[in-house]
Amino acid sequence: MFELQPLVRKNIWKLEPYSCARDEFKGVSASAYLDANENPFNNNINRYPDPLQEKVKEMLSPIKGVPVSNIFLGNGSDEAIDLVYRIFCQPGVDNVVAIEPTYGMYKVCADINDVFYRKVVLDDDFQITAEKLLEACDKRTKVIWLCSPNNPTGNDINREEMVKLLVKFQGIVVVDEAYSEFSNQKPLRLDLSQYPNLIVLNTMSKAWAGAAIRLGMAFASTDIIGLFNKVKYPYNVNKLSQEKALELLRNQSGYRQHLVMVLEEREKLMSAFNSLPICEKIYPTAANFFLVRVTDANAIYRYLVEQGIIVRNRSRVTLCENCLRITIGTKAENSALLSALIKYKP
Ligand SMILES: *Cc1c(COP(=O)(O)O)cnc(C)c1O
Repeated sequence: MFELQPLVRKNIWKLEPYSCARDEFKGVSASAYLDANENPFNNNINRYPDPLQEKVKEMLSPIKGVPVSNIFLGNGSDEAIDLVYRIFCQPGVDNVVAIEPTYGMYKVCADINDVFYRKVVLDDDFQITAEKLLEACDKRTKVIWLCSPNNPTGNDINREEMVKLLVKFQGIVVVDEAYSEFSNQKPLRLDLSQYPNLIVLNTMSKAWAGAAIRLGMAFASTDIIGLFNKVKYPYNVNKLSQEKALELLRNQSGYRQHLVMVLEEREKLMSAFNSLPICEKIYPTAANFFLVRVTDANAIYRYLVEQGIIVRNRSRVTLCENCLRITIGTKAENSALLSALIKYKP
């Protein structure tokens, strides 16, 4: 039987959250709002925003296949990542286990929160085994961090191994599915009800074309969502972002069109890379980027910068020696990249 309480920091479990004016008063529409010391003159932003972003969640729920009560929204995924540490990890005492290489924010937030961060290096195919990750855990391991499709490697993490971890590990398993829209693997968020220790992260920043509005999501049990809501800043997602999110989510045909274009461009760009002299290995991807091992990553990176083309140099990252990470751009951007690389002289 999974028990949540022993995993949660005692001060957080006991925490009496800030009660904002809009929490106490919900649903009923009044003729005068004299409770929150706001400016009464309407300019669309004079009132505090909905602290629980109900409209956005209602719109997201059918799109994501997750009930409203299992959704947390934050100021980017970054907020959800930080909250996981603040809710579950006692600074200076607890540790987390994460795959390596992966997204850098899990480690930065561990360091900020003074939580020990244990790395388990992926195998040569950038895959995990549940066994190896469990071996790295001890009594003080509160969280395992997974990312699928993984950044910067681009591949799906083996779903059966993730499920094994969810079943065997008694702590929290976070699976960051920031890129799941680009993948054919069934997202774990659709199996949320089976795993009380699962937290899935999603974001508006990638497939949904909303990086600037800073809107991240966490999907989890209602108990875990309750903890997120208790610890977050009261009005953590501003009104302009909530409105813009609704606008993006309403435009599903635009979203699909762009998704299809990115996936088509991904195939074209990768096969064009195959015949470039600088290309040594293209790693399989299920995201809107791919990792490529080249002849000389540092030199090629600098050359591209001179041409006004910025890619991500990942050559100092574990298992990514001489690798560049290339985001799929527009047709024009991708062909600019290709023609620059065709002209490249070592
Ligand atoms: C880009 C990315 C995110 C998005 O973070 P936001 O704070 O929501 O913009 C989350 N996780 C991974 C692995 C990413 O690559």
